[in-house]
This record gives sequence, C-alpha cells and structure tokens, in this order.
Amino acid sequence: MLCQNYIEAERFRKRNLCAECGDEPQLYPNREGGYDVRCQNRNHKGFTKLKSYTQIWREGQAVPLIIANKIQNKYGGDRMDSTTLAKASRTEMERRLNLAMKSFGFVVEETGLSRAPNLNEVKLLVDYCLTYAFDPLLNEVCLYQGRPYPMIDGLRRKAQETEKYRGLKMEPVLDPATKVALGYKEQDIVFKATVRKAENGEIAEFERYGGVTQQEINEMSKRDPTKHRHPVVYKNPSDSAQNRAERDALRAAFQFNFPGVQGLPVVIEGEWGGKGGEKAAKGQPPPPSPIKGEDFPKPEAIKNLGMLFESARKYFDLQPADTMKILGVETKEQIADTSEAWRRILEAKVPKQGEREEVKTSE
Ligand SMILES: [Zn+2]
Repeated sequence: MLCQNYIEAERFRKRNLCAECGDEPQLYPNREGGYDVRCQNRNHKGFTKLKSYTQIWREGQAVPLIIANKIQNKYGGDRMDSTTLAKASRTEMERRLNLAMKSFGFVVEETGLSRAPNLNEVKLLVDYCLTYAFDPLLNEVCLYQGRPYPMIDGLRRKAQETEKYRGLKMEPVLDPATKVALGYKEQDIVFKATVRKAENGEIAEFERYGGVTQQEINEMSKRDPTKHRHPVVYKNPSDSAQNRAERDALRAAFQFNFPGVQGLPVVIEGEWGGKGGEKAAKGQPPPPSPIKGEDFPKPEAIKNLGMLFESARKYFDLQPADTMKILGVETKEQIADTSEAWRRILEAKVPKQGEREEVKTSE
C-alpha cells in the first residue's frame, strides 16, 4: 500500500493487519516519495481492517461493558435494531438526528462536506429513517441533491441484519496493469473489497473495486482556489477508496432494495463542513466545540499560527516552545502548514494504546 505521506501511512498501518499472517504492517520509505505500508514478509499481500469497538457496537455485537457505556455516552443513546427503529416515534428520530449533528451535518454537498439540514430536509431524513429503519444517531443516512441515501454504516447494518454476512476482506490493488484494466491510472488509489456471505450452506464471495483518482485528490475548488474540491477525499484518499469498494461489494452481495441504494452517489463519505453548515442550519443546534480529552479540533480547523499555539496550550498544556520542539522547528516562521502541524501534534500527544478502542463518530 503506497501512502503519500507519513500521517496517512501511520493511520493505515494502525488500522490494518496483514491478511496472510495477522502481523502489524510496517512502514518503508518509498524511493519515489511517500511510504509503502506492508508486512515484513514482502510476499504477503492484502490487509484485514481492524474494527474499532465503535464499529463492533454499531453492528450490534458485544463489546466490554465499560466501552459500551462510553460509546453510549458519546452518542447520547443506545443502539437500536431495525425492528425497534421502525417503531420509533418521529420525536425520537428527530432527537437522534439532533444528537448526531455534533459529528455530522446530514446534507452532503458535492465536496463530501456536510451541512445541517433545514426543517424540510429534517422531515425527509426522518421519513426515510422511519420507513426503512436507519439510525440517524449512527450517521447511517444522508441527503444528497435533495434525496435520501444510506451511508456506508447503514449498508453495514442491513448486511449484518440478514445474518448471512460473513465478513469483509480489503486488499489494495498495487499492480499498475490491473489498475489500468479497471479504468484507473497507475497513480490512482484502488482497493478490492470481498464481502463473504452465507448462501445455501456455502460461503459466496462478492468482489468489487473502488478507487479515488489523483485528479480527484488534487483538484482545487473552482469557487475558492485555495481549497480542495473534494476535501474529504483529499484528507483520507485510501479510506474513501475502501468505502467505495465495500459499498459496491455489499450492494452486490445483498441486493438491497430500499430507495436510493441503486443510485448511490460517489460522494458518500460525508463529514462536517463547518461554517457553511451553520448558516444553513437556522433553528438547528450547531456542532458543539470539541470536548477536552475526548475530541480535538480537526486539522483543517487550525487555520493559523495563533490557533495552533492556542490549541496546543488548551488541549495539551504545551507552551509555544514545546509545540515547536514537537514539530522540529526553531522559529514559528518555519511552520508552513498549520493544519499539518496540528495533525502532527495530535499524532504525538494522543495516547497510542487507546487507538483501537477509540470512540469515534466519523468512521
Ligand atoms: Zn504477513
């Protein structure tokens, strides 16, 4: 797996195991830039994605009680199965939607960033959730160009609930010729997802490919040339590619028939868009500021040196000198990209052992 930068490579490394021996993958600097993430045994191919406790909980499986409580506190509610969801009241659905809005805006724009829904859009989302049993609390749905769609977590729920789901294998496609044959270019990031399903006493496998192109990663916004046109993809291209592959493999395996699923847009990896959302969100609660010890400002929110040093002080009690030391610079002027700098502070300061038990809502 070739990653463009260290942060992305580390992130991938921590979330995956070698599919052949189960060892943690390692980073190897690539001669042409970036890092290769692979097993120490260079013949081993493929990765298995580690599940976080949050994901296991979302799937309705047992997690340690203390973790379950932590997750429920974070979400502000219990997980509901589809039967319970379909019987929920409008008020309960709206409550769950509002709670979830601290992490996700629900109306996904072309960029992949989301904004808060207006009242009419809330109605559409709640109707969809009640009719087809999706949970807004777990970010299972979104609106895109005025229509409701299930997000990847919604598809995972429906797959789990068939009781025929037998797991997912995710492998990067590294061979340039294969990429080209699939309609990609050599530098694009492509994954193969294999969904396993119990069928007539046997296990059937459904393979689908998903990718993001370099053009998509690097394209700048026409409206604001200082911003990326697809910031979600730009930030985590391999996550986006994997989500797309998994989405299509799930769809192939389970033939879901709720509306929206046949025409799922490429943009399904939504996240909060910030300011634009608040403006559209009259009468809706804005996303609360991050809570110390639990959530930190996202890197793209750190727009200047002042915010960088202030956040380092506020969240990690770091003096400017300490912050610069972590970044390996001697003067503030050497910090070119404050978002990237904050990303590195987070990497350095957020406890590593909690990595696989992290309570996250953005997966
Ligand atoms: Zn291995």
